[in-house]
Amino acid sequence: MLNDTYRHKGMRRKLVELLRSKGITDETVLDAIDMVPRHLFLDNAFVNFAYKNQAFPIGSEQTISHPFTVAFQTQLLELKKSEKVLEIGTGSGYQCSVLMEMSVKVFSIERHRSLHMKSKKMLNQLGHFPKLFFGDGYKGLPGYAPFDKIIITAAAPFIPQDLLEQLKVGGMMVIPLGDSDKQEMQRIIKVAENEFQTETYGEFSFVPMLQDKSFKS
Ligand code: SAH
Repeated sequence: MLNDTYRHKGMRRKLVELLRSKGITDETVLDAIDMVPRHLFLDNAFVNFAYKNQAFPIGSEQTISHPFTVAFQTQLLELKKSEKVLEIGTGSGYQCSVLMEMSVKVFSIERHRSLHMKSKKMLNQLGHFPKLFFGDGYKGLPGYAPFDKIIITAAAPFIPQDLLEQLKVGGMMVIPLGDSDKQEMQRIIKVAENEFQTETYGEFSFVPMLQDKSFKS
């Protein structure tokens, strides 16, 4: 049952103001956050907290990112309509839904089958039909490359080479880099076939991007 009430909409409006006060300035990002019923991506027990700036469990020991983190990474992508965007770590599907609201073409990979299935169901119920894959984010999607933008929503211990190759020249990747509790947010711009520029944007904390070959059910 999809229930998005005036109360939820009011809480979202407040969340948008909070994000604005924390430095999110891209109105297209704020509009997308205002549109997406975040509470529907959380388990029932957390619904009343959905619009606080907090991370929450989404099952399979994974978490939905803080709204600020979602807004910040999305803003760094500088999205233009119809761009092709690859997301690593579909998780709950919330970030994916925010991207879909921005009229880009979204491809998203998740290594937990249960999260892959659950997020697909919720996104489809909301009328979003991104291309969702159950697989290993380190490999990307060579068959669908190149991408204008790549967003990694798990802590990457190193920069995945395959993903750099799947970026268009002029494209960029937003990646929380590091393997411990804290990672550094980086934006990597592909300026030429083998030339990259790196910008850094402070510390964040994500669940790890895992490297084992066996996918989880
Ligand atoms: N974007 C998500 C947040 C996801 S948390 C949201 O909006 O809810 C990080 C996700 O990355 C988890 O679901 C985890 O299972 C997934 N993940 C971790 N390593 C991965 C890998 N190698 N390939 C694909 N997904 C991965």
